[in-house]
Formats: sequence, C-alpha cells, structure tokens
Amino acid sequence: MLVLVLNPGSSSLKYAVWQFDSGNLKASGQEVLRGAVERIGESEVTDHAVALESIVKELSSLLGERKLEAIGHRVVHGGRFTGPVLIDSEVIRYLELLNPLAPLHNVPAVLCIHAATRTWPQVSQVAVFDTSFHRTLPEHVWRYALPQGLCRQYGIRRYGFHGISVEHVGQRAARMLGIPWEKFDGVIAHLGNGASVTAVHGGQSVDTSMGFTPLEGLVMGTRSGDVDPGILIFLLRQGLCAEELDNLLNRDSGLKALAGDNDMRTITTSAATGDKDAQLALETAAHRLVRYIGGYHVTCGGANAIVLTGGIGENSAPFRTRVLEKLAPLGVKIDPVVNETVVGLKEARVVSAPESSIPVLVVPTDEQAAIAKATVAVVSTQ
Ligand code: ADP
Repeated sequence: MLVLVLNPGSSSLKYAVWQFDSGNLKASGQEVLRGAVERIGESEVTDHAVALESIVKELSSLLGERKLEAIGHRVVHGGRFTGPVLIDSEVIRYLELLNPLAPLHNVPAVLCIHAATRTWPQVSQVAVFDTSFHRTLPEHVWRYALPQGLCRQYGIRRYGFHGISVEHVGQRAARMLGIPWEKFDGVIAHLGNGASVTAVHGGQSVDTSMGFTPLEGLVMGTRSGDVDPGILIFLLRQGLCAEELDNLLNRDSGLKALAGDNDMRTITTSAATGDKDAQLALETAAHRLVRYIGGYHVTCGGANAIVLTGGIGENSAPFRTRVLEKLAPLGVKIDPVVNETVVGLKEARVVSAPESSIPVLVVPTDEQAAIAKATVAVVSTQ
C-alpha cells in the first residue's frame, strides 16, 4: 500500500510517500521519498493548494505507474476527535469549525484536504491529530478555572498539541532505555518554531504546556506563550481588535519580539557576538522551558528521562546547554563533548553525563512516519 503523507506548517508543506507491504500492513513500512515546499505565501506559491499542485507534478513523475492508496493528513487541532479518523464531508465541516482555534495550521490542513480530494477523489484520506495523544489528560489538568457553562458552550479546555511527535519520540526514547512504553515516565519537549512540553506518566500524557490553542506555554518563534491574560483585557481597552491581538500573539511575539528574529541559528550567532537582545531572548526562552520541565518532573512522578526534539531540540547545542545547566538542582548534568556533536542526527543520542540523575535524550522526530502508520491502521480496518 502506497501512502502519501501531507504535513502542512504555517508556511511550509512537508510530504512523504510510504510503502507498506499489503500482506503485512502492521509491519513498519518504508519511506519511499520525502520533500517539502517552503516559503508558501512569500513567493509565487501563494497557498497550500498551489504547493500541493507542484507536489502532484513531482509525484507523478517519481511514482510513475504506482498508484496512491491512502493519504494521511496532519491536522493540528482535532477538537473532539480522540484518534485518527477517515475523512468524509462531515469531518471536513467539523474541522472547518475548528479553523479559528489553530489559524496557523488547521487552515492550511483543510486547504490540503480539499485540494487532495479534487486531485484523488477515489483515494481514502485520514486525518491524524496533534491533540489525540493528550486525550488522557486528567480533568483537573484539562479544565480551566473559568465558568463551566461558558467552557461547555465553546469547548474551552486544554487540548494540547504536538502529540504525534511527542508519542513518536517518547516511544523511541523508552525503547532506547529498555523501558516498556506503558511504564515510561518522562518529560518531552518538542522545540521547533512552535514549542511545547509534555509530562508523560505510564506512556500517557498527563500534562502539556499548550492549551485550548497552540499559543499557551513556552516562548516560541513568533508566539508569546504564557502571558498575563490581564494584558489582553488592557490592550482591548486600548482599542486593539481581535484580529490585531491574534497577529500580535501568534505572529509578532516570542523570540521575534525579543530578539528581532525567530530563527534560533541567527539568534545564537547574534548572542555570541554580544547582541544583548538576543542574549535576553535565549535566557527568557530557557527560563520558561526550565520552569515547565521542573514542574513536569514532579507531575510525571519522577522522570525516567528528559527528551528533546524538534528543530531546536535536535540541533541547537548551545540552547540545550543553557537549558540543561539550569536543571543542575535536579542533578541533571550535560556531557558537553557529546552534546556538541549532536546536530542533525538520524539516531537518538544521550547527551547527559553518566552521573546525571536523569538521562537527557535527543530524539529526532518523524511526524511523517507516525502519520503514515496511523493512516494505514485506519484504512486497513475499513
Ligand atoms: P517547525 O515547528 O516549523 O516544524 P522546526 O522543528 O523545523 O520548526 O524548528 C525550527 C527551528 O529550529 C528554528 O528556530 C531553527 O532556527 C531551528 N534550527 C534548525 N536547524 C538548526 C541548527 N542547525 N541549529 C540551531 N537551530 C536550528
């Protein structure tokens, strides 16, 4: 079975094709190809539907006679869905209702679903959600201290995101440490342009830093993460409208607001050459992250491991150093030599010293692999 995976980001569309053996669909499968269209919206690639057209052209020449049998879409916000679903018109309508909750990601995902339906009307499509892994959050964690009627009316609760990645890297980390996933307790930080931390207890999500939307929690590339909600009330009274607040918090805040740039490589270079704003941005982001890791170490019942992933977690040795040094009171100790060598690896690596109280692992994420497997699992039960 040939499966196309579409993973739309705010300005990118990553894709992959996976081949599964029809006689043994549960077997791990093989990646046939992968690619990405970047800078969507900035160039002649005006939106994700246009990006998909260029991918369709590329695929038809690369795959030749081989036919796609399923398409797996990454959808950030799944609302009430607690697992992957086969897409039909009802599912699409429901996802469109969720668009305002994850404007950077759900809107492009829905565009991709429509475009893929036009291109491959006969092919089964599956939506795989970042929220699903967090279905196990206990009520005292998913509930906000807001009037219950209001929360019920609007579906306001903590959903949590990055679940596809968190589950994938968590399971890899557990395997590497020889701990059954059902017994794994850990703190998993996915640090990319969007960033979140999750506390895992017994292989299940028990707390996570993103909330009703992917805006809560850590300092991110262009997102503020936690702010005093009183600031928003204040700004509304100053005359800002909802659209302006949305842009402010989702696109003009975070590292971009603190350092003038949202790319960790640029910020690290600037900080090393004495740029005070860049130094402060790194310190602010690290401080917020450490606050969560420390809290979640308690929440998960004492972490077997701290796991780092995402573009920054996998590649930025200086940021890892900054964060792990702040965890010294927990007995965490980095191995500076190994840490420096861990950039762009395909394999998981331990970057802590042998005497560290908690092992720290860098595990490369592969959302496409997880989506391909989830897609096959859904399609094969139809
Ligand atoms: P997204 O959330 O868009 O998928 P990624 O997981 O690709 O984002 O992470 C993007 C972040 O990773 C950016 O801040 C980028 O600067 C950072 N990054 C990527 N490669 C490196 C590297 N070699 N060193 C430091 N940071 C890196």
